[in-house]
Amino acid sequence: MINIRLADRVKTLPPYLFATIDKMKQDALSKGIDLIDLSIGDPDIPTPSHIVNAMKKAVENPAHHRYPSYEGMLSYRQAVADWYKKRFNVSLDPKTEVLSLIGSKEGIGHIPLAFVNPGDVVLVPSPGYPVYPVGTLFAGGEPHIMPLVEGNGFLPDFKTIPEDILKRAKLMFLNYPNNPTAANASEGFFKEAIALAEKYNIIICHDAAYSEMYYDNEKPVSFLEVEGAKDVGIEFHSLSKTYNMTGWRIGFAVGNKEVIAGLGKIKSNLDSGVFQAVQEASIVALQTDDSILSDIRKVYQDRRDALYEGLRGLGIQANKPKATFYSWTKVPKDFDSTKFTTHLLEKAGVLGTPGVGFGAPGEGYIRFALTQPVERIKEAVERIKKVL
Ligand SMILES: *Cc1c(COP(=O)(O)O)cnc(C)c1O
Repeated sequence: MINIRLADRVKTLPPYLFATIDKMKQDALSKGIDLIDLSIGDPDIPTPSHIVNAMKKAVENPAHHRYPSYEGMLSYRQAVADWYKKRFNVSLDPKTEVLSLIGSKEGIGHIPLAFVNPGDVVLVPSPGYPVYPVGTLFAGGEPHIMPLVEGNGFLPDFKTIPEDILKRAKLMFLNYPNNPTAANASEGFFKEAIALAEKYNIIICHDAAYSEMYYDNEKPVSFLEVEGAKDVGIEFHSLSKTYNMTGWRIGFAVGNKEVIAGLGKIKSNLDSGVFQAVQEASIVALQTDDSILSDIRKVYQDRRDALYEGLRGLGIQANKPKATFYSWTKVPKDFDSTKFTTHLLEKAGVLGTPGVGFGAPGEGYIRFALTQPVERIKEAVERIKKVL
């Protein structure tokens, strides 16, 4: 017998706060409870059929059965550049400013390895996607929390970051439209971030996974649309949410070519790129007619309205989501986020995600995902009403 011990970097990981909720969910399901699961950030709608058909065709081509290039097929990177031009009027050189990713999570998790030395600071928004602090810790970096609070529109307040932290910071993660708060950012905010990055030499990594999941025709801006952005950073993107392709594992990073090259260097040593058939199907996806995307948006908008109006009717303070498929909802007083989540699960068979699981500043909120049909969302509201 050998003594198997986890490395220190695994031991420093923050506790996985969703583990207890997962267990309670499994218990509820095994008891046969009719659970309305609003905890999953994964589209319940299938990938549009024209994309699936492109995949079927591509998979039969033996050229795609071999190793892909780690940076992505040039035709895929060109399709990304064309999409950026059309959607954001941003010009990108597909050869140097676009990199394929095995889902954007992969790139987000790996980027600190390219630019963060042990002891360097990484600025991470909280509540936020857990991969930002975890990727930082794996690189030996020190996450510095930027709290996202309602009073500041769920944007970080750069003025509150101490000078010595800014001087030690190498990288900053931002994410708009935001998971979990459903907030959006303006061009003005990105300008502020770029000025800060220039002053302190900080690389900005903007996660734009939800840029196409918006409401009321208010299109989110891209970080790269803003003047000076390409000098200081990159944008992460994903086909996962836009085209209901979470299982396919494909995304991309775009922007500053030195940052792209640094990330590429890590990747070329760790992975061998994205299955080319998936890239072929993704080229077709990126050319999707906007009418298909507006149909998908309409589905989510109906769900958002049902949940928002339902919760308001119960006197619950819910913010109207501007984008993403989440609702970031205040828990009633007398509860904290974990207690309220447990209460709804046990008494109402409705499952959300406790805000504190996204970081301490998420305490006092619960996240509901709009990944159930309108009728189920309405039923969830009825059930919540009975247990308030
Ligand atoms: C879903 C999500 C992603 C996308 O992940 P993929 O790896 O591309 O599927 C990235 N960032 C955030 C904040 C997300 O919620």
